[in-house]
Amino acid sequence: MTSKVDVKNETTSILERLGVPATRWNDGDLPVHSPVDGGRIADVATTSAQEAATVVDAARTAFDAWRRVPAPRRGELVRLLGEELRAAKADLGRLVSIEAGKIPSEGAGEVQEMIDICDFAVGLSRQLYGLTIATERPGHRMMETWHPLGVVGVITAFNFPVAVWSWNTALAIVCGNPVIWKPSEKTPLTALACEAIFRRAVERFADAPENLLQVVVGERALGEAIVDNPAVALVSATGSTRMGREVGPRLAARFARSILELGGNNGGIVCPSADLDMTLRAVAFGAMGTAGQRCTTLRRLFVHESIYDTLVARLKKAYESVSIGNPLETSALVGPLIDRGAFEAMGEALDAARAEGGTVTGGERDEAAGDSAAYYVRPAVVEMPSQCGPVLEETFAPILYVMKYSDFDAAIRDHNAVAAGLSSSIFTRDMQEAELFLSAEGSDCGIANVNIGTSGAEIGGAFGGEKETGGGRESGSDAWKAYMRRATNTVNFSTELPLAQGVSFDIE
Ligand code: NAD
Repeated sequence: MTSKVDVKNETTSILERLGVPATRWNDGDLPVHSPVDGGRIADVATTSAQEAATVVDAARTAFDAWRRVPAPRRGELVRLLGEELRAAKADLGRLVSIEAGKIPSEGAGEVQEMIDICDFAVGLSRQLYGLTIATERPGHRMMETWHPLGVVGVITAFNFPVAVWSWNTALAIVCGNPVIWKPSEKTPLTALACEAIFRRAVERFADAPENLLQVVVGERALGEAIVDNPAVALVSATGSTRMGREVGPRLAARFARSILELGGNNGGIVCPSADLDMTLRAVAFGAMGTAGQRCTTLRRLFVHESIYDTLVARLKKAYESVSIGNPLETSALVGPLIDRGAFEAMGEALDAARAEGGTVTGGERDEAAGDSAAYYVRPAVVEMPSQCGPVLEETFAPILYVMKYSDFDAAIRDHNAVAAGLSSSIFTRDMQEAELFLSAEGSDCGIANVNIGTSGAEIGGAFGGEKETGGGRESGSDAWKAYMRRATNTVNFSTELPLAQGVSFDIE
């Protein structure tokens, strides 16, 4: 698509307004393209795998100072970060649209999520509670204390280029840890913008050490250098299951902590009693929102045979009519795919679905909206005779596979019969079905919802998934515990030395 907006010029203006030094983005070795029109918008300077060691050393020094700052004071820095994000919301949201192709409300929504997690983390900075535990010994007290953990490496994916960083960073900072962030090589500009915004918060804060946040840009080798460095205590890595398969064992080999947030293949079950108007809206947003490029995108839908024809006919109509277009200059609901690779993967999955007997509606490249350098597609809804072939895998594109069910227990079994375990939904007005879906016999995912879609989580809950999604949890609830070291302390305030379990060890 030829954009009427001059994307490169606008990118430059935003980066300048946000205070990103030009040396970081105008003459580097990594070309950055906007999915909006495929044009080159910047050339970012990268960090080599060798240079990563120096970065980690600097973070280690920052840790020595930051861990001594009281947690509520650390929270003050995150409060200031939240203020800076509020001030930068319009620019940063627009930059997310430019770099990741999100529609304006989703670009702005991503920044709002960053503000929300800052608010959460500020409160948390006064609530890093440990337990006091009853002890069996007289004159003793037992308790847990939570201490800063160390350097936190954050590796992020292109599709939430800034929110995932903020989930990790707001918590890591209040927990007393410096952060090294390696963003996706497809979205480094939004990361540089966040670095500048963070720097502004630091400038307003008296006692922050240097290098509390360092953004390093590079590809897989740079990520591996962070993963393998023994001074990095925790790596929070978000991306494909392929990436997690490489990163997980490397971290395990050196007994480092990991938070793995990997691929999803999210399913929904639509029961006979479902409110179909509401279901249709939830399914449409879950499956087509962000052009199917959310980890929580709805990809598999099991529909009861009694309502199958009605719902699928309405779904197809919605798919045929949904607006697709340039997110910078239209109010379209579906923006571009990130790049050609994503478009090709979508085509391959649709071919494989046809080969398995699937009937495809949509899926074609939107010629009116796209030209050779940008990849706009009509989302596809695919009626499948059974759950097989490409339905079992995550294809990071707007494809919704729809299958008919007759037996509820079998639908739950099929729902759980994929390798990923991130998000899930049931649409029903039957309490027994809803509660069963949420029970130990129900959905096996980290997120299970009733009468809302699979995507669009709030920051207050812990976010993450089971099985090949990696098992990590970040954001709200008690996810902060992964960023801290727990110590169990026993204090003897008596003049005796009773041993636990009645053991005696009397020396003369
Ligand atoms: P990706 O796996 O290609 O890349 C993610 C990040 O990992 C990038 O920064 C990349 O440079 C880095 N990386 C790749 N290989 C690495 C290695 N061996 N060592 C260290 N770093 C490495 O993913 P993507 O295409 O950017 O994002 C899409 C994927 O991310 C989808 O599978 C999606 O489901 C997943 N995702 C998951 C979540 C979640 O919270 N579960 C959130 C967003 C995206």
